[in-house]
Amino acid sequence: MRVQLLIEATRPLVPAELPEPRPGPGQLLLAVMACAVCRTDLHILDGELAQPKLPLVPGHEIVGTVVEKGSDADRFAIGDRVGVPWLGWTCGVCDYCKSGRENLCDRARFTGYQIDGGYAELTVADQRYCFAIPAAFGDVEAAPLLCAGLIGYRTLRLAGESERIGIYGFGAAAHIVAQVARYQGRQVFAFTRPGDKAAQDFARSLGAVWAGGSDEMPPEPLDAALIFAPVGALVPAALAATRKGGTVVCGGIHMSDIPSFPYRLLWEERVVRSVANLTRRDAEEFLALAPKAGVTTATVTYPLAEANQALTDLRNGVLQGAAVLVP
Ligand SMILES: [Zn+2]
Ligand SMILES: [Zn+2]
Repeated sequence: MRVQLLIEATRPLVPAELPEPRPGPGQLLLAVMACAVCRTDLHILDGELAQPKLPLVPGHEIVGTVVEKGSDADRFAIGDRVGVPWLGWTCGVCDYCKSGRENLCDRARFTGYQIDGGYAELTVADQRYCFAIPAAFGDVEAAPLLCAGLIGYRTLRLAGESERIGIYGFGAAAHIVAQVARYQGRQVFAFTRPGDKAAQDFARSLGAVWAGGSDEMPPEPLDAALIFAPVGALVPAALAATRKGGTVVCGGIHMSDIPSFPYRLLWEERVVRSVANLTRRDAEEFLALAPKAGVTTATVTYPLAEANQALTDLRNGVLQGAAVLVP
């Protein structure tokens, strides 16, 4: 099968031909229909996430069709369309797994990082971490739901019942979360790179009541802020824009150092927290909600062979929506 392979961090991907993988017990062999490109892929390529499997097939927002089932793989039928997210395997027996916090599993393994992912024609996935894709979405449209959507949804969920939500970094996750938040009757305030008028217009087109630069203050204090850009300096900026008792949720897996800031920004019971990975509950809730909320995804499609170009375009911030590879 054709794949795009990471041989060593900080090097471009190389095209390669690998033997077809076989599904083991509880696993599914999937024909990849689409795989979205995530900022986390860049963090892996750049060596900011330590010790990936090497060589590695990246990609953790996979939409595929079941073509073969391993023994005891009974959750899906041949021909079913499923999605595969970042969390690819959990132990099922640690304290975190047993308390519904499998996203924190001590032995968790991740798709496109420690397990070969979807920059390929075929992939193998643990059926426990495969999810039915709602019929309302095409293959390409659905791919960004699997990370930008799921982890974005968890980020929003951990912001609680807040009405006025600030979103810092208006990329793939934000554009999905904004639609869900609006459906839930919340107000979205979008913060982009200063002067990025195109991103601000894009945010307004998705229902943001206000859009401006991350160096600006919103017209009224936020109840909560979600940070999707990997920029530590946004944490004190978001705290300054958030009212008493509000929460700032960091949705990314990697962030530059957070600069020191005066205690008064945290004072009055403001909370800063992170989001790690996702649970199956997040996936099931979000995939049921997305069609009801009328979520649409903006995508830019690339052939699998142009994976490096897709990554470059994501890095340069020239995409409005999610890059999606199609084998
Ligand atoms: Zn576990
Ligand atoms: Zn991701």
